[in-house]
Amino acid sequence: MRPRASKEEESMRRPEIELSRCILCEVCQSASPSVFRLNSAGYMEVADFDAYPEEEVEEAIRSCPSRCISWVTDT
Ligand code: SF4
Repeated sequence: MRPRASKEEESMRRPEIELSRCILCEVCQSASPSVFRLNSAGYMEVADFDAYPEEEVEEAIRSCPSRCISWVTDT
């Protein structure tokens, strides 16, 4: 089992979408509408927040049929 990130580490990570695999099903947007949105170019994008709602994003990651959402850590 993966060790849980500290609160500070959690606030530094953000969800990222591998766009080449995204099929624009909008499931992530349903799971976390504040974080995932369709941009004007027609791609799913991640809103720019300092911290993300952990449970909602985890739900989006679990639900994405293309498995193309993952956490990345800002450096
Ligand atoms: S759930 Fe996955 S495949 Fe569907 S729109 Fe979101 S990122 Fe793309």
